[in-house]
Amino acid sequence: MSKTLDLSHIETWVFDLDNTLYRADVSFFADIGEKMTAFISRHLALQPDEARMLQEEYFHDYGATLSGLMDIHGMDPAPFLDYVHDVDLSVLTPNPALRTAIAALPGRRIIFTNGSRGHYRNVANHLGLLDLFEGGFAIEDMHYEPKPKRRAYELFVEAYDFDPTRAIFFEDTRRNLEVAKAMGMTTVWITAEDEAPEGYVDAVTGDLAGWLQGALTRG
Ligand SMILES: [Mg+2]
Repeated sequence: MSKTLDLSHIETWVFDLDNTLYRADVSFFADIGEKMTAFISRHLALQPDEARMLQEEYFHDYGATLSGLMDIHGMDPAPFLDYVHDVDLSVLTPNPALRTAIAALPGRRIIFTNGSRGHYRNVANHLGLLDLFEGGFAIEDMHYEPKPKRRAYELFVEAYDFDPTRAIFFEDTRRNLEVAKAMGMTTVWITAEDEAPEGYVDAVTGDLAGWLQGALTRG
């Protein structure tokens, strides 16, 4: 399904975290989701089903549940992030093939996530990948205005001072690729779906490690 792309101009390799650098185990994601529901329910004095609806609505409208909670309810982000990301990471298993593939990439490697700084460091460290990255750009760095908001991408490019037309972005949330493409990045959608890519998707794969290895082999 992937097109053959010319990657010879790529200098900066940008990766989303959740569902991109690992395939989310259902129980791991459910844990975070349930903790969000519990936090919202407690802090806004809502029944769990009402809290869940709000959580989904804000995720859809803002790109991250927290951004809606801050905008509409003035919620303090730090206690929310600490609480929801305090989950059992033992279900995440390191992928040696992915480590090898990322380590071989020529150029800068950066994580670009709507999760928190603590979350990406914990997860990447648990996956045995953290040392391969120059750094990350998290929701705190986006001033809580996450992907797919254009400002998040602009702040990211500015902070790491790279040329987006010489960057490639790997991401499982398809809508997050649109702005990246508009800024000139090459885009790869990480998905198990066998679906025709949209205009702003350059390639599709369900196997990030294999795709990277293939791309490097092709030169
Ligand atoms: Mg993701």
